[in-house]
Amino acid sequence: MRRFLIAGNWKMNCGPADAAELLEGLKEKKAEVAEEVDVLVCPPFVSLSMSVNYLHDTDIEVGAQNIHFEENGAYTGEVSASMLVEAGCNFVIIGHSERREYFGETDTTVNKKAKKALEHNIVPVVCVGESLDQRKANIHFELVKNQVTAAFEGISDTEALDIVIAYEPIWAIGTGETASPEQAQEMHAHIRSILAELYDQETADGIRILYGGSMKPGNAEELLGQEDVDGGLIGGASLSADSFAEIITIAEKLS
Ligand code: PEP
Repeated sequence: MRRFLIAGNWKMNCGPADAAELLEGLKEKKAEVAEEVDVLVCPPFVSLSMSVNYLHDTDIEVGAQNIHFEENGAYTGEVSASMLVEAGCNFVIIGHSERREYFGETDTTVNKKAKKALEHNIVPVVCVGESLDQRKANIHFELVKNQVTAAFEGISDTEALDIVIAYEPIWAIGTGETASPEQAQEMHAHIRSILAELYDQETADGIRILYGGSMKPGNAEELLGQEDVDGGLIGGASLSADSFAEIITIAEKLS
């Protein structure tokens, strides 16, 4: 039986004070609802250490939203894998579409960052997904294939099992518009078939593929109910303990 991963991407929200408030609510609710679901929160860098401390007596994981691919050195403004480990992070989001669009993230840097995270036993959550124009031009399957293939370049099958993929159609991120369950399932099945080609079916089946893009309590059940949807990467709705916990509860019921 699959185990869902419900992950919150806080983006550039919640410094330490707001993070404490949000986590306080989440901690209470999570304890009530979920045993069968893995839960992850990804606060901004400045709130990571306090989040780890705050959650030390729970099974909620803490991840970062970015990482640098070098070990250390003259990279002003960047944060290394060993720093994330020291801060207590076990996960990192890599290649989010906002980083690809605004901060020059490419398929090549995504691959380098995924490898560096794996070296340090941090689970990379690799984001892929097409824009509306790319979907309209009917190149979305090819584009996502290229993104997935590039992200896994030079990564062994055992390492691949430690990677999580998040399929996030850009047109559905923060827009209130969601991929239909059929659109999500179609792309998730496509991604799994790419992984089966790159590795084998067993490995492909063992890699979790999350859906991201305006997931909320009102649509989580039908999205998470799809065969190849193994969880959610949630932006807006993860900033409220109530709505995030509701999504976790839905995942728990489907488990
Ligand atoms: C995201 O940024 O990863 C995301 C899915 O955002 P939202 O849920 O707000 O669309």
